[in-house]
Amino acid sequence: MKCILVEKIGACAVVEKECPRPGTGEVLLKVNVAGVCRTDLKIVRAGHRDLVLPRIPGEEVVGSVVEVGAGVSGIAVGRRMYVYPGIWCGTCGPCRQGAQNLCRDMRIMGFHRDGGFAEYVVAPAQSLIDVPDTLSDEEAVFAEPLSCCLNALELSGIKPGMTVAIWGAGPAGTLLARASRALGFAADVVDPDEKRCERAGGHRLPPSKEYDACICAVGSAGAYRQAIARLAPRGRLVVFSGLSPADETIPVSFNQLHYREQSIVGAYGCSYRHGEDALNMIAAGSVKVRDMITHRFVLDDIEQALAVVELREGIKVHLYPDRKGIDA
Ligand SMILES: [Zn+2]
Repeated sequence: MKCILVEKIGACAVVEKECPRPGTGEVLLKVNVAGVCRTDLKIVRAGHRDLVLPRIPGEEVVGSVVEVGAGVSGIAVGRRMYVYPGIWCGTCGPCRQGAQNLCRDMRIMGFHRDGGFAEYVVAPAQSLIDVPDTLSDEEAVFAEPLSCCLNALELSGIKPGMTVAIWGAGPAGTLLARASRALGFAADVVDPDEKRCERAGGHRLPPSKEYDACICAVGSAGAYRQAIARLAPRGRLVVFSGLSPADETIPVSFNQLHYREQSIVGAYGCSYRHGEDALNMIAAGSVKVRDMITHRFVLDDIEQALAVVELREGIKVHLYPDRKGIDA
């Protein structure tokens, strides 16, 4: 099969590889579409904490079942499936608290095992979620980035009547803003690019307005400094975007946190249930995603796809095994 392979940090190549076979409890899927995000760019260009090489990247995948491994029941060949990118143990502390994304033994597709930048991908049956018939593959694949946003919104602790501001109007910021609205919170969005801000449905931040939740969907220390200054009493800052190692330490006034009872919480990835919620929200039309797709590429054009992500030329970039997928 054709796939994108990262053998060492800094580059990737289009190669032919033997098609994987599903083991016990696993399913082989023909990839219908894979989303490309900044994390994939990071994996190829700079590496990632969770990356094990050599690796086929791609953690946003929708595919059709072509073969079912031993011990798998209830999954029919031909079904379209969204792949929750994690494999979790189910028994460790974080798993028992419902945070599968923090599983002590977490293995992420595209990081620890091969992902969807390929014609075929193997996934454990445990990680699959049926795509509703009313949803296209292109819409369903947004379930992965949207899941991460739902996890962040959950961790932000916002309740009806509270205010939320989001820094960054890229794919994640846009989905955060749309998901907030779907859940009943009008979000303000901060982005230097007026057009992106508008697409996300954002308003300019009114001067001196404070927020119950501030979420940074851009890996910029400056954004984090602004966001922490905008926290209302009992406000919560969500660390949604990672920072480059050079920027990862930001001075914070602990007295501000103390006197104003504010908190800072990290958000990384998502749990299986967020995938189910995300697919339901997209299927119900409460979070619209189709207009966010600005670029479609085939595997052979991976460098162009990564360049679009790197230069922030589009919003959402999708990758297809071949032209048939794009034209479908
Ligand atoms: Zn676990």
